[in-house]
Amino acid sequence: MFDRRVLCWHVDRRNFLKVLRILGSRYKRDLPAHIREDPFRTMIGCLLSTRTLDERTDIAYTALFSRYPTLESLLAADPEVVKELVRPVNFYATKAKRVLEAASYISKVHGGKVPRSRKCLLEVPGIGPKCADIILNYAFRKAAVAVDTHVEVVSKRLGVCSPEDSYDEAKKKIETLATKRELGRINDILVCFGKEFCKKRNPKCNICPVFFYCEWPEKFKAAKREPERYQGTEIRTKRAQDSAKTPDKSL
Ligand code: SF4
Repeated sequence: MFDRRVLCWHVDRRNFLKVLRILGSRYKRDLPAHIREDPFRTMIGCLLSTRTLDERTDIAYTALFSRYPTLESLLAADPEVVKELVRPVNFYATKAKRVLEAASYISKVHGGKVPRSRKCLLEVPGIGPKCADIILNYAFRKAAVAVDTHVEVVSKRLGVCSPEDSYDEAKKKIETLATKRELGRINDILVCFGKEFCKKRNPKCNICPVFFYCEWPEKFKAAKREPERYQGTEIRTKRAQDSAKTPDKSL
């Protein structure tokens, strides 16, 4: 019987870098429409994207910027029209308000330019840690990891961070393990991997390219494989005292 107690929620750096190398060669940079353009558009795209599928965010984003292509035009926009344009996203009424508030703030406080520092970004109305990191990573190409749903699920299953970690704890652990070079692409890689294989529900562990580096105890069940065959190869026993913790099966 597979002994879950020997697991520890820790992955060593070498293995994580191997995972990134395997996945990095598999995925090319392929961003959704709402985060592939300039910093202001990326910021608005982030505001629209929370708790919404990328496909729906892209529809709202395209409609909004087709009608109001610049910051100036958005500042003069009718709030009711903005609300209608972003209707495809969840919580569209609140988000329409946030979009206009953020645009106004950027114009008044930063002269129309999105700030490049995390601290300043967090002061923009509606921008939280995840949005700030997405803007830094995608729009400014800075080495900042944005722990979105996919990054969180994948990194917790791989053992890079523990199921109880907060946003900041998970971000710090990922940033500590990866090299600066990888940090620039880590979001792309883990998001693509999360969408293709390591889905929150029904992950495709049976065909996962990094199965042997994954520390998620449920992977054998998900892949319908015999755990005993793999014991001693990928399951490390150091820090066994951590094993007393019951892993979160929902991830
Ligand atoms: S083995 Fe399964 S849980 Fe682990 S990384 Fe692969 S898809 Fe995700």
